[in-house]
Amino acid sequence: MKTNYDVIIVGGGMVGSTLACALAESALKIAVIEKNLPAEIQPSDDYDLRVSAISHSSQQVFEHLGVWSGIRRRRCCAYEKMHVWHSQGDAELLFDAADSGVKELGHIIENRVIQLALLERIKQHDNVDLISGQSVDAVQYQPQNSQLTLENGSLLSGRLLVGADGAHSMVRGAAGIELEMADYDQKGIVCVVTPEKHHQHTAWQRFLSTGPLAFLPLSNGQCSIVWSADSTEAEQLLTLDDEVFCKQLSDAFDGKLGRIESVSSRAAFPLIRRHAHEYIKDGLVLVGDAAHTIHPLAGQGVNLGLMDAASLAEVMNVAIRHRRDFASYQTLRKYERWRRGENQLMMYSMSAFKNLFGNKHRLLSKARNLGLALVQKSAMAKSALMRRAMGFDGDLPAIARDNWNREAAAEDPFQSGSGR
Ligand SMILES: Cc1cc2nc3c(=O)[nH]c(=O)nc-3n(C[C@H](O)[C@H](O)[C@H](O)COP(=O)(O)OP(=O)(O)OC[C@H]3O[C@@H](n4cnc5c(N)ncnc54)[C@H](O)[C@@H]3O)c2cc1C
Repeated sequence: MKTNYDVIIVGGGMVGSTLACALAESALKIAVIEKNLPAEIQPSDDYDLRVSAISHSSQQVFEHLGVWSGIRRRRCCAYEKMHVWHSQGDAELLFDAADSGVKELGHIIENRVIQLALLERIKQHDNVDLISGQSVDAVQYQPQNSQLTLENGSLLSGRLLVGADGAHSMVRGAAGIELEMADYDQKGIVCVVTPEKHHQHTAWQRFLSTGPLAFLPLSNGQCSIVWSADSTEAEQLLTLDDEVFCKQLSDAFDGKLGRIESVSSRAAFPLIRRHAHEYIKDGLVLVGDAAHTIHPLAGQGVNLGLMDAASLAEVMNVAIRHRRDFASYQTLRKYERWRRGENQLMMYSMSAFKNLFGNKHRLLSKARNLGLALVQKSAMAKSALMRRAMGFDGDLPAIARDNWNREAAAEDPFQSGSGR
Protein backbone atom coordinates (compact mmCIF):
# COMPACT_ATOMS: atom_id res chain seq x y z
CA MET A 1 0.00 0.00 0.00
CA LYS A 2 1.35 3.39 -1.00
CA THR A 3 0.08 6.70 0.40
CA ASN A 4 0.08 9.58 -2.02
CA TYR A 5 0.70 13.21 -1.05
CA ASP A 6 1.00 16.54 -2.84
CA VAL A 7 4.02 17.52 -0.74
CA ILE A 8 6.36 15.32 1.29
CA ILE A 9 8.71 17.20 3.63
CA VAL A 10 11.64 15.06 4.80
CA GLY A 11 12.79 16.53 8.14
CA GLY A 12 10.54 18.09 10.77
CA GLY A 13 13.30 20.27 12.26
CA MET A 14 12.83 24.02 12.65
CA VAL A 15 12.85 24.71 8.89
CA GLY A 16 10.80 21.76 7.59
CA SER A 17 8.13 22.30 10.27
CA THR A 18 7.93 26.00 9.47
CA LEU A 19 7.36 25.17 5.81
CA ALA A 20 4.58 22.74 6.75
CA CYS A 21 2.85 25.42 8.84
CA ALA A 22 3.24 28.01 6.06
CA LEU A 23 1.70 25.66 3.47
CA ALA A 24 -0.98 24.28 5.77
CA GLU A 25 -3.66 26.76 4.80
CA SER A 26 -3.57 25.62 1.17
CA ALA A 27 -5.64 22.60 0.21
CA LEU A 28 -2.48 20.55 -0.34
CA LYS A 29 -2.14 17.16 1.29
CA ILE A 30 1.18 17.29 3.13
CA ALA A 31 3.36 14.76 4.98
CA VAL A 32 6.18 15.71 7.35
CA ILE A 33 8.56 12.90 8.22
CA GLU A 34 10.73 13.38 11.31
CA LYS A 35 12.86 10.60 12.72
CA ASN A 36 13.52 12.14 16.18
CA LEU A 37 10.52 13.54 17.98
CA PRO A 38 11.76 15.86 20.77
CA ALA A 39 10.57 15.29 24.35
CA GLU A 40 8.37 18.04 25.85
CA ILE A 41 10.25 20.64 27.92
CA GLN A 42 9.50 20.81 31.64
CA PRO A 43 10.04 24.15 33.42
CA SER A 44 12.56 22.51 35.75
CA ASP A 45 14.61 21.01 32.87
CA ASP A 46 18.18 22.19 32.42
CA TYR A 47 18.65 24.36 29.36
CA ASP A 48 19.52 22.50 26.14
CA LEU A 49 22.94 22.94 24.56
CA ARG A 50 21.49 23.89 21.16
CA VAL A 51 19.95 27.35 21.06
CA SER A 52 19.40 29.88 18.26
CA ALA A 53 19.40 33.66 18.15
CA ILE A 54 16.07 34.32 16.45
CA SER A 55 15.83 37.58 14.52
CA HIS A 56 12.88 39.96 14.50
CA SER A 57 11.85 38.80 10.98
CA SER A 58 11.89 35.14 12.03
CA GLN A 59 9.80 36.07 15.05
CA GLN A 60 7.27 37.70 12.70
CA VAL A 61 7.03 34.44 10.72
CA PHE A 62 6.33 32.52 13.94
CA GLU A 63 3.80 35.13 15.11
CA HIS A 64 1.90 35.04 11.82
CA LEU A 65 1.87 31.24 11.70
CA GLY A 66 0.43 31.05 15.23
CA VAL A 67 3.60 29.50 16.68
CA TRP A 68 5.05 32.32 18.77
CA SER A 69 2.63 31.78 21.66
CA GLY A 70 3.80 28.15 21.91
CA ILE A 71 7.39 29.38 22.14
CA ARG A 72 6.59 32.05 24.76
CA ARG A 73 4.59 29.57 26.80
CA ARG A 74 7.64 27.34 27.04
CA ARG A 75 10.70 29.57 27.46
CA CYS A 76 12.85 32.11 25.62
CA CYS A 77 14.96 35.14 26.49
CA ALA A 78 14.84 38.53 24.79
CA TYR A 79 18.10 40.40 24.36
CA GLU A 80 18.08 44.15 24.21
CA LYS A 81 21.75 44.86 23.67
CA MET A 82 24.70 43.43 21.80
CA HIS A 83 28.31 44.00 22.79
CA VAL A 84 31.09 43.08 20.34
CA TRP A 85 34.83 43.56 20.90
CA HIS A 86 38.18 42.09 19.91
CA SER A 87 40.89 40.64 22.13
CA GLN A 88 43.50 42.80 20.37
CA GLY A 89 42.79 46.49 20.87
CA ASP A 90 40.19 48.36 22.85
CA ALA A 91 37.63 49.28 20.19
CA GLU A 92 34.14 47.90 20.74
CA LEU A 93 30.68 47.98 19.23
CA LEU A 94 27.57 48.49 21.35
CA PHE A 95 24.10 48.03 19.91
CA ASP A 96 21.01 48.97 21.87
CA ALA A 97 17.42 48.21 20.82
CA ALA A 98 16.34 51.55 22.27
CA ASP A 99 18.45 53.38 19.63
CA SER A 100 16.26 51.85 16.93
CA GLY A 101 12.99 52.34 18.76
CA VAL A 102 12.41 48.58 19.15
CA LYS A 103 11.89 46.61 22.36
CA GLU A 104 14.51 43.97 21.70
CA LEU A 105 17.13 42.94 19.16
CA GLY A 106 16.04 39.30 19.12
CA HIS A 107 15.47 36.23 21.27
CA ILE A 108 17.63 33.33 22.37
CA ILE A 109 15.54 30.18 22.12
CA GLU A 110 16.34 26.51 22.51
CA ASN A 111 16.01 24.70 19.17
CA ARG A 112 13.83 22.10 20.89
CA VAL A 113 11.38 24.78 22.08
CA ILE A 114 11.01 26.09 18.52
CA GLN A 115 10.54 22.61 17.11
CA LEU A 116 7.99 21.64 19.80
CA ALA A 117 5.91 24.78 19.20
CA LEU A 118 5.93 24.14 15.44
CA LEU A 119 5.01 20.46 15.74
CA GLU A 120 2.18 21.39 18.10
CA ARG A 121 0.82 23.80 15.47
CA ILE A 122 1.21 21.24 12.65
CA LYS A 123 -1.04 18.83 14.56
CA GLN A 124 -3.86 21.40 14.40
CA HIS A 125 -4.02 21.14 10.59
CA ASP A 126 -6.08 18.25 9.18
CA ASN A 127 -4.29 18.27 5.83
CA VAL A 128 -0.84 17.71 7.36
CA ASP A 129 0.26 14.23 8.50
CA LEU A 130 3.16 14.25 10.94
CA ILE A 131 4.92 10.91 10.59
CA SER A 132 7.30 10.84 13.52
CA GLY A 133 9.76 8.36 14.94
CA GLN A 134 10.34 7.05 11.41
CA SER A 135 13.39 7.65 9.35
CA VAL A 136 13.30 7.82 5.56
CA ASP A 137 15.41 4.87 4.47
CA ALA A 138 15.30 5.25 0.68
CA VAL A 139 14.44 8.08 -1.70
CA GLN A 140 13.71 7.58 -5.35
CA TYR A 141 13.50 10.97 -7.01
CA GLN A 142 11.23 11.23 -10.05
CA PRO A 143 10.19 14.61 -11.48
CA GLN A 144 6.46 13.92 -11.42
CA ASN A 145 6.09 11.58 -8.46
CA SER A 146 8.95 10.74 -6.09
CA GLN A 147 8.80 7.61 -3.93
CA LEU A 148 10.00 7.17 -0.36
CA THR A 149 10.46 4.10 1.79
CA LEU A 150 10.27 4.53 5.55
CA GLU A 151 12.12 2.51 8.18
CA ASN A 152 9.00 0.40 8.86
CA GLY A 153 8.63 -0.43 5.15
CA SER A 154 5.77 2.03 4.44
CA LEU A 155 5.78 3.54 0.96
CA LEU A 156 4.90 7.16 0.22
CA SER A 157 4.77 9.07 -3.02
CA GLY A 158 4.47 12.79 -3.65
CA ARG A 159 4.42 15.39 -6.42
CA LEU A 160 6.83 17.65 -4.53
CA LEU A 161 9.66 16.26 -2.44
CA VAL A 162 11.20 18.74 0.02
CA GLY A 163 14.66 18.17 1.50
CA ALA A 164 14.54 19.80 4.95
CA ASP A 165 16.71 17.03 6.34
CA GLY A 166 19.72 19.07 7.42
CA ALA A 167 23.34 19.36 6.41
CA HIS A 168 23.72 15.68 5.45
CA SER A 169 20.52 15.67 3.40
CA MET A 170 19.54 12.32 1.94
CA VAL A 171 17.11 14.06 -0.42
CA ARG A 172 19.92 16.22 -1.82
CA GLY A 173 22.02 13.10 -2.37
CA ALA A 174 19.17 11.20 -4.06
CA ALA A 175 18.69 14.11 -6.48
CA GLY A 176 22.41 14.09 -7.31
CA ILE A 177 22.86 17.72 -6.23
CA GLU A 178 26.50 18.59 -5.53
CA LEU A 179 27.84 20.92 -2.85
CA GLU A 180 30.38 23.72 -2.80
CA MET A 181 32.19 23.26 0.51
CA ALA A 182 34.76 25.11 2.63
CA ASP A 183 35.90 23.46 5.84
CA TYR A 184 36.93 26.15 8.36
CA ASP A 185 38.89 23.47 10.27
CA GLN A 186 37.16 24.82 13.35
CA LYS A 187 34.66 23.49 15.84
CA GLY A 188 31.96 25.33 17.73
CA ILE A 189 31.90 24.25 21.38
CA VAL A 190 28.49 24.69 22.95
CA CYS A 191 27.52 24.50 26.64
CA VAL A 192 25.49 26.32 29.28
CA VAL A 193 27.34 28.25 31.98
CA THR A 194 26.51 30.13 35.16
CA PRO A 195 28.48 33.39 35.27
CA GLU A 196 29.03 35.29 38.49
CA LYS A 197 27.28 38.41 37.12
CA HIS A 198 23.89 38.66 35.38
CA HIS A 199 24.01 38.78 31.57
CA GLN A 200 21.99 42.04 31.50
CA HIS A 201 19.89 40.76 28.57
CA THR A 202 22.87 41.32 26.34
CA ALA A 203 24.32 39.07 23.61
CA TRP A 204 28.10 39.26 24.09
CA GLN A 205 30.65 38.38 21.45
CA ARG A 206 34.42 38.58 21.89
CA PHE A 207 36.58 37.96 18.83
CA LEU A 208 39.72 36.01 19.69
CA SER A 209 42.41 35.43 17.10
CA THR A 210 41.34 31.76 17.11
CA GLY A 211 37.64 32.51 16.56
CA PRO A 212 34.62 34.22 18.11
CA LEU A 213 33.29 33.45 21.60
CA ALA A 214 29.61 34.24 22.19
CA PHE A 215 27.71 34.43 25.49
CA LEU A 216 23.97 34.33 24.82
CA PRO A 217 21.49 35.20 27.58
CA LEU A 218 18.99 32.64 28.93
CA SER A 219 15.87 33.43 30.92
CA ASN A 220 17.19 31.89 34.17
CA GLY A 221 20.27 34.15 34.20
CA GLN A 222 22.62 31.52 32.75
CA CYS A 223 24.35 31.90 29.36
CA SER A 224 24.56 29.58 26.40
CA ILE A 225 28.01 29.78 24.88
CA VAL A 226 29.35 29.11 21.40
CA TRP A 227 33.14 29.05 21.41
CA SER A 228 34.60 28.66 17.91
CA ALA A 229 38.16 27.43 17.93
CA ASP A 230 40.58 25.65 15.62
CA SER A 231 39.81 21.92 15.66
CA THR A 232 42.83 20.83 17.72
CA GLU A 233 42.29 23.57 20.31
CA ALA A 234 38.59 22.69 20.48
CA GLU A 235 39.42 19.03 21.11
CA GLN A 236 41.69 20.07 23.99
CA LEU A 237 39.04 22.36 25.47
CA LEU A 238 36.57 19.47 25.44
CA THR A 239 38.86 17.26 27.50
CA LEU A 240 39.55 19.81 30.28
CA ASP A 241 37.93 19.18 33.64
CA ASP A 242 35.10 21.59 34.51
CA GLU A 243 37.11 23.78 36.87
CA VAL A 244 39.96 24.36 34.41
CA PHE A 245 37.50 24.87 31.54
CA CYS A 246 35.58 27.53 33.54
CA LYS A 247 38.83 29.36 34.32
CA GLN A 248 39.97 29.31 30.67
CA LEU A 249 36.52 30.40 29.51
CA SER A 250 36.42 33.30 31.95
CA ASP A 251 39.91 34.42 30.79
CA ALA A 252 38.97 34.09 27.11
CA PHE A 253 35.91 36.22 27.85
CA ASP A 254 37.99 38.92 29.52
CA GLY A 255 36.16 38.29 32.81
CA LYS A 256 33.29 40.39 31.44
CA LEU A 257 30.70 38.57 33.55
CA GLY A 258 33.04 37.69 36.39
CA ARG A 259 33.97 34.11 37.29
CA ILE A 260 32.26 31.21 35.54
CA GLU A 261 30.76 29.30 38.45
CA SER A 262 29.54 26.15 36.71
CA VAL A 263 29.33 24.52 33.31
CA SER A 264 27.03 21.88 31.80
CA SER A 265 28.21 19.02 29.61
CA ARG A 266 29.95 20.24 26.42
CA ALA A 267 29.50 19.32 22.76
CA ALA A 268 31.34 20.41 19.63
CA PHE A 269 30.15 20.83 16.03
CA PRO A 270 32.47 21.02 13.00
CA LEU A 271 32.10 24.38 11.25
CA ILE A 272 31.73 23.94 7.52
CA ARG A 273 30.35 26.26 4.87
CA ARG A 274 28.22 24.35 2.39
CA HIS A 275 26.17 25.60 -0.52
CA ALA A 276 24.17 23.34 -2.82
CA HIS A 277 24.86 23.94 -6.52
CA GLU A 278 21.12 23.80 -7.13
CA TYR A 279 18.22 24.28 -4.72
CA ILE A 280 15.62 22.76 -7.05
CA LYS A 281 14.74 20.20 -9.68
CA ASP A 282 11.36 19.61 -11.25
CA GLY A 283 9.30 18.27 -8.31
CA LEU A 284 12.11 18.67 -5.73
CA VAL A 285 13.37 21.49 -3.53
CA LEU A 286 15.92 22.01 -0.74
CA VAL A 287 15.47 24.35 2.24
CA GLY A 288 17.53 25.29 5.30
CA ASP A 289 20.72 23.41 6.14
CA ALA A 290 20.03 20.92 3.33
CA ALA A 291 20.76 23.83 0.95
CA HIS A 292 23.35 25.82 2.96
CA THR A 293 25.31 25.90 6.20
CA ILE A 294 27.29 28.93 7.42
CA HIS A 295 29.69 29.89 10.20
CA PRO A 296 27.64 30.53 13.36
CA LEU A 297 29.47 33.76 14.23
CA ALA A 298 26.45 35.98 13.64
CA GLY A 299 23.86 33.33 14.54
CA GLN A 300 22.14 33.51 11.16
CA GLY A 301 21.92 29.85 10.00
CA VAL A 302 18.39 29.01 10.99
CA ASN A 303 17.15 32.53 10.27
CA LEU A 304 18.16 32.03 6.63
CA GLY A 305 16.41 28.64 6.61
CA LEU A 306 13.21 30.14 8.02
CA MET A 307 13.24 32.77 5.25
CA ASP A 308 13.70 29.92 2.72
CA ALA A 309 10.61 28.19 4.11
CA ALA A 310 8.51 31.37 4.13
CA SER A 311 9.62 32.37 0.60
CA LEU A 312 9.00 28.91 -0.85
CA ALA A 313 5.51 28.81 0.68
CA GLU A 314 4.80 32.26 -0.79
CA VAL A 315 5.89 31.22 -4.30
CA MET A 316 3.87 27.99 -4.09
CA ASN A 317 0.76 29.73 -2.75
CA VAL A 318 0.86 32.20 -5.64
CA ALA A 319 1.18 29.35 -8.15
CA ILE A 320 -1.82 27.57 -6.58
CA ARG A 321 -3.86 30.74 -6.66
CA HIS A 322 -3.12 31.19 -10.36
CA ARG A 323 -3.83 27.49 -11.04
CA ARG A 324 -0.25 26.80 -12.01
CA ASP A 325 1.71 23.69 -11.07
CA PHE A 326 3.12 24.40 -7.58
CA ALA A 327 5.96 21.88 -8.08
CA SER A 328 7.11 22.66 -11.61
CA TYR A 329 10.65 23.75 -12.36
CA GLN A 330 9.38 27.20 -13.44
CA THR A 331 7.55 27.78 -10.14
CA LEU A 332 10.39 26.52 -7.97
CA ARG A 333 12.94 28.52 -9.96
CA LYS A 334 11.35 31.69 -8.58
CA TYR A 335 12.16 30.46 -5.08
CA GLU A 336 15.72 29.55 -6.06
CA ARG A 337 16.40 32.90 -7.70
CA TRP A 338 14.95 34.69 -4.69
CA ARG A 339 16.83 32.86 -1.95
CA ARG A 340 20.15 31.95 -3.53
CA GLY A 341 21.41 35.53 -3.72
CA GLU A 342 20.24 36.36 -0.18
CA ASN A 343 21.91 33.26 1.27
CA GLN A 344 25.10 33.74 -0.73
CA LEU A 345 25.43 37.32 0.46
CA MET A 346 25.18 36.24 4.09
CA MET A 347 27.57 33.31 3.59
CA TYR A 348 30.29 35.42 2.05
CA SER A 349 29.81 38.21 4.60
CA MET A 350 30.32 35.68 7.40
CA SER A 351 33.46 34.29 5.77
CA ALA A 352 34.83 37.81 5.26
CA PHE A 353 34.09 38.69 8.91
CA LYS A 354 35.77 35.51 10.07
CA ASN A 355 38.90 36.24 8.04
CA LEU A 356 39.03 39.89 9.06
CA PHE A 357 38.56 39.18 12.78
CA GLY A 358 40.78 36.09 12.80
CA ASN A 359 43.77 37.79 11.18
CA LYS A 360 46.68 38.49 13.56
CA HIS A 361 48.64 40.80 11.23
CA ARG A 362 49.60 43.97 13.15
CA LEU A 363 48.54 46.42 10.42
CA LEU A 364 45.25 44.66 9.84
CA SER A 365 44.63 44.59 13.56
CA LYS A 366 45.12 48.38 13.70
CA ALA A 367 42.81 48.89 10.73
CA ARG A 368 40.20 46.62 12.32
CA ASN A 369 40.23 48.58 15.56
CA LEU A 370 39.96 51.83 13.68
CA GLY A 371 37.07 50.39 11.67
CA LEU A 372 35.24 49.24 14.82
CA ALA A 373 35.74 52.65 16.44
CA LEU A 374 34.43 54.44 13.34
CA VAL A 375 31.35 52.22 13.10
CA GLN A 376 30.68 52.73 16.83
CA LYS A 377 30.73 56.51 16.26
CA SER A 378 28.57 56.44 13.14
CA ALA A 379 24.88 56.12 13.93
CA MET A 380 24.16 55.34 10.27
CA ALA A 381 26.69 52.50 9.95
CA LYS A 382 25.57 51.02 13.28
CA SER A 383 21.95 51.18 12.30
CA ALA A 384 22.70 49.46 8.96
CA LEU A 385 24.53 46.60 10.73
CA MET A 386 21.79 46.28 13.31
CA ARG A 387 19.03 46.18 10.71
CA ARG A 388 20.83 43.34 8.91
CA ALA A 389 21.30 41.36 12.14
CA MET A 390 17.64 41.82 13.07
CA GLY A 391 16.64 40.56 9.63
CA PHE A 392 14.96 43.83 8.54
CA ASP A 393 16.98 44.11 5.35
CA GLY A 394 16.93 42.09 2.17
CA ASP A 395 14.04 40.87 0.06
CA LEU A 396 11.79 39.53 2.82
CA PRO A 397 8.80 37.25 2.26
CA ALA A 398 5.55 39.05 3.11
CA ILE A 399 4.86 36.91 6.19
CA ALA A 400 8.18 38.04 7.74
CA ARG A 401 7.16 41.70 7.64
CA ASP A 402 5.56 43.58 10.51
CA ASN A 403 2.64 44.79 8.39
CA TRP A 404 1.55 41.33 7.14
CA ASN A 405 -2.19 40.90 7.17
CA ARG A 406 -3.88 37.48 7.14
CA GLU A 407 -6.99 38.53 5.15
CA ALA A 408 -4.95 40.43 2.58
CA ALA A 409 -2.60 37.47 2.25
CA ALA A 410 -5.49 35.23 1.19
CA GLU A 411 -6.04 37.64 -1.73
CA ASP A 412 -2.42 38.45 -2.50
CA PRO A 413 0.20 36.27 -0.79
CA PHE A 414 2.95 38.78 -1.71
CA GLN A 415 1.08 41.84 -0.42
CA SER A 416 3.57 43.79 -2.46
CA GLY A 417 2.32 43.61 -6.00
CA SER A 418 5.71 42.28 -7.05
CA GLY A 419 4.03 39.34 -8.81
CA ARG A 420 7.08 37.18 -8.37
C1 LIG B 1 27.41 25.58 17.07
C2 LIG B 1 26.26 26.12 16.26
C3 LIG B 1 25.55 27.22 16.71
C4 LIG B 1 24.49 27.76 15.94
N1 LIG B 1 23.83 28.88 16.39
C5 LIG B 1 22.87 29.43 15.61
C6 LIG B 1 22.17 30.64 16.01
O1 LIG B 1 22.42 31.24 17.06
N2 LIG B 1 21.23 31.16 15.16
C7 LIG B 1 20.93 30.55 13.97
O2 LIG B 1 20.11 31.10 13.22
N3 LIG B 1 21.52 29.40 13.59
C8 LIG B 1 22.48 28.83 14.37
N4 LIG B 1 23.10 27.68 13.97
C9 LIG B 1 22.62 27.00 12.76
C10 LIG B 1 21.32 26.23 13.00
O3 LIG B 1 21.46 25.35 14.10
C11 LIG B 1 20.93 25.44 11.76
O4 LIG B 1 20.96 26.32 10.65
C12 LIG B 1 19.52 24.85 11.90
O5 LIG B 1 19.47 23.87 12.90
C13 LIG B 1 19.05 24.23 10.58
O6 LIG B 1 17.73 23.78 10.69
P1 LIG B 1 17.13 22.72 9.65
O7 LIG B 1 15.73 22.47 10.09
O8 LIG B 1 17.41 23.17 8.26
O9 LIG B 1 18.05 21.42 9.84
P2 LIG B 1 18.19 20.47 11.11
O10 LIG B 1 18.10 21.24 12.37
O11 LIG B 1 19.42 19.67 10.88
O12 LIG B 1 16.90 19.54 11.03
C14 LIG B 1 16.80 18.47 10.11
C15 LIG B 1 15.77 17.49 10.64
O13 LIG B 1 15.61 16.43 9.69
C16 LIG B 1 15.53 15.20 10.38
N5 LIG B 1 16.01 14.15 9.46
C17 LIG B 1 17.23 14.10 8.86
N6 LIG B 1 17.32 13.01 8.06
C18 LIG B 1 16.12 12.37 8.17
C19 LIG B 1 15.61 11.16 7.60
N7 LIG B 1 16.32 10.40 6.74
N8 LIG B 1 14.36 10.78 7.94
C20 LIG B 1 13.60 11.53 8.78
N9 LIG B 1 14.04 12.68 9.36
C21 LIG B 1 15.29 13.09 9.06
C22 LIG B 1 16.43 15.38 11.61
O14 LIG B 1 16.05 14.50 12.67
C23 LIG B 1 16.20 16.84 11.96
O15 LIG B 1 15.16 17.03 12.90
C24 LIG B 1 24.14 27.13 14.70
C25 LIG B 1 24.84 26.01 14.26
C26 LIG B 1 25.90 25.51 15.01
C27 LIG B 1 26.68 24.30 14.50
